Amino acid sequence: MDLVIARPEGLYCPPGDFYIDPWKPVDRAVITHAHSDHARVGHGHYLAQTDSEGTLRTRLGADINLQTLPYGEAVVHNGVRLSLHPAGHVLGSAQVRLEHGGRVWVASGDYKTEPDGTCTPFEPVPCDTFITESTFGLPIYRWPTQAQLSAEINEWWRRNAEEGRASVLLCYAFGKAQRILHGADVSIGPIVVHGAVEPLNAVYRAAGVALPPTLRVTDPEVNPQMLKRDHADWPGLQKAIAGTGAERVFVTHGSVAVLVRWLTENGLEAQGFKTEYGDEDVADRAEAPSVAPPAEPPTEAPA
Ligand SMILES: [Zn+2]
Ligand SMILES: [Zn+2]
Repeated sequence: MDLVIARPEGLYCPPGDFYIDPWKPVDRAVITHAHSDHARVGHGHYLAQTDSEGTLRTRLGADINLQTLPYGEAVVHNGVRLSLHPAGHVLGSAQVRLEHGGRVWVASGDYKTEPDGTCTPFEPVPCDTFITESTFGLPIYRWPTQAQLSAEINEWWRRNAEEGRASVLLCYAFGKAQRILHGADVSIGPIVVHGAVEPLNAVYRAAGVALPPTLRVTDPEVNPQMLKRDHADWPGLQKAIAGTGAERVFVTHGSVAVLVRWLTENGLEAQGFKTEYGDEDVADRAEAPSVAPPAEPPTEAPA
């Protein structure tokens, strides 16, 4: 029996009788991270990584029935040994490792292989079967390093400051905003953030992540835009999948068909999983008022 199957409610573990990031209300949900397309309201019981508590309660309500688990610690539920491992995507993001009947499956959630200083870096988890996202699963996607990106932003900001111009950066409130702040050179000038960003900054600071001081602005004209580099790029996906040693790979939201074909050509047993993830930015846009929609990357409909 497979340890994870796709059901209308979401990815389901039959022996454990629980779901991973379900998109419809269920009794027991394991949540990989607090982005809106993975963490939804209405579940009876939530299990998530310890560092996700602040963001989950901020977003889903202080009173959700939430059990937390540190990275690497296991719980056994209906004979399934479950543990959470760093995914490097946002604060508290986790891969879900399931062990049952001598088999090991890992569901990645969203992940990014390059460390960025705002969350625990991705760790490859050996497994037989790996369920991977594929948001940027096309060879054209190759990110500059976080250091390069921060240097470019700081250089642009410094130049504007010297010419007496304010610099405005547009990005999403949870994850991306904190990555940019983490790399900002505070010697250039004061930083003002949108009202949607500051509560999440507070959660990151409480978790010990170094963010510069920020002032708050609730300017409704602020218009978010894609700075979507907190998913793995094409080389990152290859590296992560190879790092698991898995022989079987299920591909979720993103460029499913392309990644499945590439994996099959490289000798792995690969297939797509139909999921309803992938619009975290659309969902998160509600938190930062938008005037024009950001350009979406080319993605294929889930297989
Ligand atoms: Zn995400
Ligand atoms: Zn996602």
